[in-house]
Amino acid sequence: MEKLITVMVPAYNEEIVIKQFYSRINEVINGIRNYRFELLFVNDGSTDQTLEIIKQLRETDQRVSYVDLSRNFGKEVAMLAGFDYAKGDAVVIIDADLQDPPELIAEMIYYWEQGYDDVYAKRRDRQGESWLKKATSKAFYRLLKKTTTIPIQEDTGDFRLLDRRCINALRQIRESQRYTKGLFSWLGFKKKEILFTRDPRAAGETKWNYKKLMNLAIEGITSFTTYPLKLSSYLGFFISIGAFIYMFVIIFKTIFFGEPVSGYPSLMSVILFLGGIQLLSLGVIGEYLGRIFNETKQRPVYLVQEYNGEKEFVIHEDH
Ligand code: UDP
Ligand code: MG
Repeated sequence: MEKLITVMVPAYNEEIVIKQFYSRINEVINGIRNYRFELLFVNDGSTDQTLEIIKQLRETDQRVSYVDLSRNFGKEVAMLAGFDYAKGDAVVIIDADLQDPPELIAEMIYYWEQGYDDVYAKRRDRQGESWLKKATSKAFYRLLKKTTTIPIQEDTGDFRLLDRRCINALRQIRESQRYTKGLFSWLGFKKKEILFTRDPRAAGETKWNYKKLMNLAIEGITSFTTYPLKLSSYLGFFISIGAFIYMFVIIFKTIFFGEPVSGYPSLMSVILFLGGIQLLSLGVIGEYLGRIFNETKQRPVYLVQEYNGEKEFVIHEDH
């Protein structure tokens, strides 16, 4: 039996590119012999015609299937839904906007057959992105790399081929606030890097804004390292030592030089500085606490409106 490869596409309001995407991916997978393909779209609560277009595609092409989520859960969660419903021996994650060239899939399969479990595409450069996005992303990676113990891949997105064992592993990780890119690293297994040039979006606009990116960055840090918590303890420790020494200086001064009622500036700056540090530490603790709160509720990570036309509200266990 020929091996099945699932091409998994998270899609959120992609009505203007999805047909173009389909025709390009169709060409690519028609050119790859000896494999069967499944084209699994995860409709992440689109409010436009995305779902209708996917349904039309399914009518003419039986390789197309889709999971329709009950609302917009975000790409990270949409990908988990994709892992749950993918049937393939390997899964290729690809964006709907043609920023990830489908032509690379053949190469990914080649390395997969060589025994690699995670063949990921690394960007040679970042075309069509502003210098601000490049700079912030660079700073974020630097911070994350410094503070985590697992290796994080820079300039790598979700565009990759994963072996079935990676998919099964990812399905076990059911945190609702996900940073999938970190999870790929966390998994380990045999990884292979291939290089590509990321094109600008074919049409439509990015679903990311700085607020969302900022949240993803916080997700990345809080779900992979407790370093910020440690940092607050260190800060607290050193500042206490500083405060202790300063206390002795004050006592000494008072005993030997008397006590003139002044020192308003120093008092004020110490109070403000300590207040700032305390608020910051509280905020850090709050970020972690909030995540503990969210995970302890043990809600299903996503809900499904329909799968290939069937209404189904049970959370998937296994195929
Ligand atoms: N996406 C999604 N849910 C969302 C946001 C995005 O499924 O809430 C999908 C989107 O349709 C696309 C992919 O994730 O296929 C990447 O999104 P986008 O191109 O907006 O991100 P960028 O390439 O700018 O990082
Ligand atoms: Mg994109």
